[in-house]
Amino acid sequence: MTTPKPDIVAAFEEAKGFMPRHEGLALYAAAADSARLGLPLLEVGTYCGRSTILLADAARQAGVMAITVDHHRGSEEQQPGWEYHDPSVVDPAVGRMDTLPTFRRTLHAAGLEEHVIAVVGRSPQVAAVWGGELGLVFIDGGHTDEHATADYEGWVPHLADGGLLVIHDVFPDPADGGQAPYRIYRRALDSGGFSEVSATGSLRVLRRTGAGL
Ligand code: SAH
Ligand code: MG
Repeated sequence: MTTPKPDIVAAFEEAKGFMPRHEGLALYAAAADSARLGLPLLEVGTYCGRSTILLADAARQAGVMAITVDHHRGSEEQQPGWEYHDPSVVDPAVGRMDTLPTFRRTLHAAGLEEHVIAVVGRSPQVAAVWGGELGLVFIDGGHTDEHATADYEGWVPHLADGGLLVIHDVFPDPADGGQAPYRIYRRALDSGGFSEVSATGSLRVLRRTGAGL
């Protein structure tokens, strides 16, 4: 398993976000593995760039680009009054969340700006105009069925054969969390187009082995 250098782990741990270290290491290993295909690595759900650091460093090592998509207005559960709200990422001029400035500071601090293309927009709209093949698709955006399904249906068709689909917040037991990411994980396996590579905490890594959707 390919692991990141200590300065990358330190930058990851300092960054604001929602990924524990052991899952981050599994994401990094998947990114390093798939980057060998020579194709870009794509993330849905940038937030403040915590997981982006890992994709960006793996991309840098392989000479490919990391692409990260977010509207930067936050998911349902991150809005004011909800469980995962952080008042420090609200833009007072607009009165809405804006994680883009924090994300840019995160990438700058990690020295990874030139290895990342940040796309500000809604995932299904970006997927609809996307043209190229991808070596990795990492889904960590909105956690409603509507969002998770749109991410899956929008991005999986762009994933190269042999590429990796990584899904975060997969909870087989409803007592542990929302079921939308679990449902797209099941859908991928049931399609016959994927085989499971690893499971670490709530992070699942699947390899595309066929054309199922
Ligand atoms: N990967 C991050 C956490 C992402 S949190 C980390 O490691 O910390 C989920 C993010 O998905 C939020 O920033 C939210 O704005 C974004 N998001 C939710 N639905 C989206 C959609 N439909 N299109 C684009 N971004 C979306
Ligand atoms: Mg997540």
